[in-house]
Amino acid sequence: MTNADFRQLWLCFGQAAAQNKEELNRLDAAIGDADHGTNMDRGMQKVAEQLTSCPPPTLQATCKMVAMTLLSTVGGASGALWGSGLLAASKVFPDMDSCDDKTLAAALQTFVSSIQQRGKAVAGDKTMLDVFLPATAELSQEVDHAPAASVIPPIAAEAKQWAEATAPLLAKRGRAAYLGARSIGHIDPGATSSALWWDCLGRVMGSSK
Ligand code: ADP
Ligand code: MG
Repeated sequence: MTNADFRQLWLCFGQAAAQNKEELNRLDAAIGDADHGTNMDRGMQKVAEQLTSCPPPTLQATCKMVAMTLLSTVGGASGALWGSGLLAASKVFPDMDSCDDKTLAAALQTFVSSIQQRGKAVAGDKTMLDVFLPATAELSQEVDHAPAASVIPPIAAEAKQWAEATAPLLAKRGRAAYLGARSIGHIDPGATSSALWWDCLGRVMGSSK
């Protein structure tokens, strides 16, 4: 992946956050405090501003900038989780213009491990990790045999289904966990925004083939 692809990914996610802001707030209203769309949109619009006015020169610098921007502008669990995860991932990305597929997979694994360490959620807890865990596991496995540009788009296509599959789950982490059994029957907002992120990664990688 090149730094230009990575920048494009975040610009795409910024557009998706803006377009889906109300829907993400609506999902969060059902099992949280109705701010997930507002949170992600606020952070991502700031990221897009920075990427346009002062684009960081390397993958590592871009990742670090996105992390710091999300940490400083997004309140709530998602800001801390995305921000700290990306800060950890930025140490895996090289301070160069591009990286190979295995490094991309390793950076995403580090993102996920950092979020797991910080938030203590496991698969099935009805969080953003219910999208990121299966997606990064598939990526790490398949990147050994095929290029990321052909492996990522089909994974991205599955991400929406993984988000929807959080509906029957009982929330064990975050604000939704306070609802107990009343969290059942609603799709997790963080899993939904994570699927939007994978959709953007799929588009960017698919068109860089
Ligand atoms: P807040 O819950 O503080 O209002 P947001 O509404 O922006 O923050 O984000 C909520 C989302 O964050 C949830 O839908 C869930 O996916 C994710 N989340 C919350 N807690 C955790 C956790 N401990 N581990 C992983 N993801 C979490
Ligand atoms: Mg919320």
